[in-house]
Amino acid sequence: MKILVINCGSSSVKYQLIDTDNEIALAKGLVARIGMSASVLTHKPHDRDEIKVSGEILDHIVAVEYVISILLSENHGVIKDRSEIQAIGHRVVHGGEKFTSSVLITQPLMSEIRSLIELAPLHNPHNIRGINACMKTLPGVPQVAVFDTAFHYQMPPYAYVYGIPYVMYKRYGIRRYGFHGTSHQYVSERAASMMNKPMKDLRIITCHLGNGASIAAVDHGVSVDTSMGFTPLEGLLMGTRSGDLDPAIILHIMAREELSLHEANTLLNKHSGLAGISGISSDMREITESADDGNANAKLALDIYCYRLKKYIASYAAVMGGLDALVFTAGVGENSPLVRKMSCEKLQFIGVDIDDAKNEQIKGVESDISTADAKVRTLVIPTNEELMIARDTKRIVDEQAKA
Ligand code: ADP
Repeated sequence: MKILVINCGSSSVKYQLIDTDNEIALAKGLVARIGMSASVLTHKPHDRDEIKVSGEILDHIVAVEYVISILLSENHGVIKDRSEIQAIGHRVVHGGEKFTSSVLITQPLMSEIRSLIELAPLHNPHNIRGINACMKTLPGVPQVAVFDTAFHYQMPPYAYVYGIPYVMYKRYGIRRYGFHGTSHQYVSERAASMMNKPMKDLRIITCHLGNGASIAAVDHGVSVDTSMGFTPLEGLLMGTRSGDLDPAIILHIMAREELSLHEANTLLNKHSGLAGISGISSDMREITESADDGNANAKLALDIYCYRLKKYIASYAAVMGGLDALVFTAGVGENSPLVRKMSCEKLQFIGVDIDDAKNEQIKGVESDISTADAKVRTLVIPTNEELMIARDTKRIVDEQAKA
């Protein structure tokens, strides 16, 4: 089955056309700068070179039309007719407490997804725009929503309830939800398969370290805790997001700097993290290079990043009463031996012991970087959220066909 996987941001559409028969991405790409000047579509068929097309892409509907046209194009396309696209899978960031697994999108369901905008005003509106754009561009093609929160839905209440009046949870749904679920699930399943053991026999910690970063404790197949919370702002230090901080700081800064809610939100989400501390960049490559060149703030940002990661790893091992595998994934996790080394230092007491020479060599490929006699397998596993979305979409469309 050929499935179009769509991940919509505020001004971007990421896509992959995946053939689930052999799990190959026939083409992948990105429409960037939607609604701005110089919008551009970058497209890579699996067997040909990447191309870039610029145009006036005013909204997500036009963006999806561009995607379909390039998938059909004579020179750069991978399908002959749009009817070859048998289903569409959408990444939807927030599923709230309502959506604990992927669902076939119907009109009544759209209003439920829309009601979640209140919980995720920065993310869900764009995902909904993508769904609407596909409904217009490819009417009649089944569409499935795959939620970033779903993998974490079995967390126990003591992990998801915050220390504020309980009525806030009841009234506004304020609790930990967790994000990056598709990635945490994919890499924990891969880890089990690399170890030749069922997930239900393993305690796994998965570190998804991209621009956004989160860590999850996957205890015998169930995500029992994760660092992102009510929103994707909590937890680890990220590219531009603060991660954990004393909530009183926000009130203090808002008062001292006379910031509006919107400005405070921007400060925490866009101007904090690696970028805010270093004053240089949100990109771990630039942070590492500057730290190497002797920039003290870049070094501090790197130290904080790894220190916090180490604290979370050890605390999640405690939560599960031990550890069998530690997984690094996403841009930083897959490609930065330095971050892996720094965050694993002194973790021998929980069984984590990485082989420095192996670690140094590994970038972007599945690999075991632990020493031969380490009690815990430390693994690098490239994530593949799109494949997970395609698999789930196929499963749901097949179930629907049988019903
Ligand atoms: P997103 O969350 O946007 O999907 P990615 O998973 O692509 O992000 O991760 C982006 C991050 O990965 C950036 O901080 C980037 O610097 C980092 N990264 C990519 N390659 C390397 C590398 N070779 N060394 C260190 N960091 C890297």
